[in-house]
Amino acid sequence: MTRETKARANDWLQSYWMPFTPNKAFKAAPRLNQRADGFYYYTTDGRKVLDAFSGLWCCNLGHRHPKIVEAIKAQADELDYSNAFNFGHPKVFELANVVAEQFPGDLNHVFFVNSGSEAADTALKMAIAYHRLKGQGTRTRLIGRVNGYHGVGFGGISVGGMVNNRKFFGSLLPGVDHLSFPYDMNAQAFTRGEPDRDVEPFMRELEGLIALHDASTVAAVIVEPFAGSGGVFIPPKNYLKCLREVTKKHGILLIVDEVISGFGRMGASNAATLFSVEPDIVTVAKAINNGAVPMGAAIASKEIYDTFMEATTAGVEFFHGYTYSGHPLAAAAGLAAQEVFRDEGVYEKARALGAYFEDAIHSLKGEPHVIDIRNIGLAAGVTVAARDGAPGARGTDVFLKTYEQGVAIRANGEHLAIAPILTQGRAEIDMTVDALRKGLRAVA
Ligand code: PLP
Repeated sequence: MTRETKARANDWLQSYWMPFTPNKAFKAAPRLNQRADGFYYYTTDGRKVLDAFSGLWCCNLGHRHPKIVEAIKAQADELDYSNAFNFGHPKVFELANVVAEQFPGDLNHVFFVNSGSEAADTALKMAIAYHRLKGQGTRTRLIGRVNGYHGVGFGGISVGGMVNNRKFFGSLLPGVDHLSFPYDMNAQAFTRGEPDRDVEPFMRELEGLIALHDASTVAAVIVEPFAGSGGVFIPPKNYLKCLREVTKKHGILLIVDEVISGFGRMGASNAATLFSVEPDIVTVAKAINNGAVPMGAAIASKEIYDTFMEATTAGVEFFHGYTYSGHPLAAAAGLAAQEVFRDEGVYEKARALGAYFEDAIHSLKGEPHVIDIRNIGLAAGVTVAARDGAPGARGTDVFLKTYEQGVAIRANGEHLAIAPILTQGRAEIDMTVDALRKGLRAVA
């Protein structure tokens, strides 16, 4: 910050009510990014900070990739906006094809939105409407998972399972159940990759819920391949595959939320492909266009799309959409980002870096306060013990101390999350782990 802005800070920082941020603490000691380039942020007070969180799980290719910047500039120069209802523009159709072909089975139809939250709510609405169009209008119940995160819309927080995101907001959607959190620190602390635990108890629980309500009332199950925002928690091997089998058996749709896992985080285009699972709907956002312009999507199977198309002889088939669905700038950024993912072999590079990242992050075992470390692909969670009577305080302190070392990670309570830019190398992984180690050692 310049001296002038510092002097005004107390006033001018107040107008912006910041999301998911302790506003008072931030405004007392702001962290303001002036610009970014590649792996780094450059702050208003002259610091250079390594981005070890890919923005917010979204800048998988780093910041200001020249091809993406160029595509956005050219698009703004050609078509700044195009009415999303009853009009189209070529790039959004092209991007739908490029995205759809990366997902397994007949996940062929891409409904564009502007965020992961909108993608989740869109998917839930699609699922309930689909059953109604099939003559099964009683299938309205939804099943999420404890500690799941599907954004902040009312649908997303209803099926989501993070307590603070739910408890302030009333009764939420009716008819929602939650599967257990498939994580037990006592049984699996310091696991590398997918835990080797038995998935059967979790499937029996789902079968129990279905039996309780009857399958004829259940529309969909929604889960993340791994809980990202909740703190990077990875379900046991075969979890998603078994979930697919149980849901299919009962005619229940499986929605897989790939807002974080999509486009390289797990060293593959997406988790559904990686785990050889064919969901009915997948949600994506964030890295679809490297976070450069807001964009998300719900990708539906042919069966779902055809059902909507055939149910209506004329007129609108799905009464849903957003002014900025498939925005030209977002679509142009998306096409450029997808080209880079493909042409630069980014998923393969991310996969190759996974083992080094795993070893590096697990080298923090034994450092002060560390009670668990988990990883999958290029994502890791490190949990520190809570301070008595001050939940979240130690995690925040480690985050701040790591930032003082010039590395930006994320803290969610006691869970620290690391999500390197996929094109980073061993040097940046080493810098991140070194800063985190110093951060852990610096806090009481
Ligand atoms: N779903 C998942 C799995 C997410 O991780 C997130 C955000 O982190 C969302 C949905 C919500 O995305 P957005 O913040 O773009 O609404």
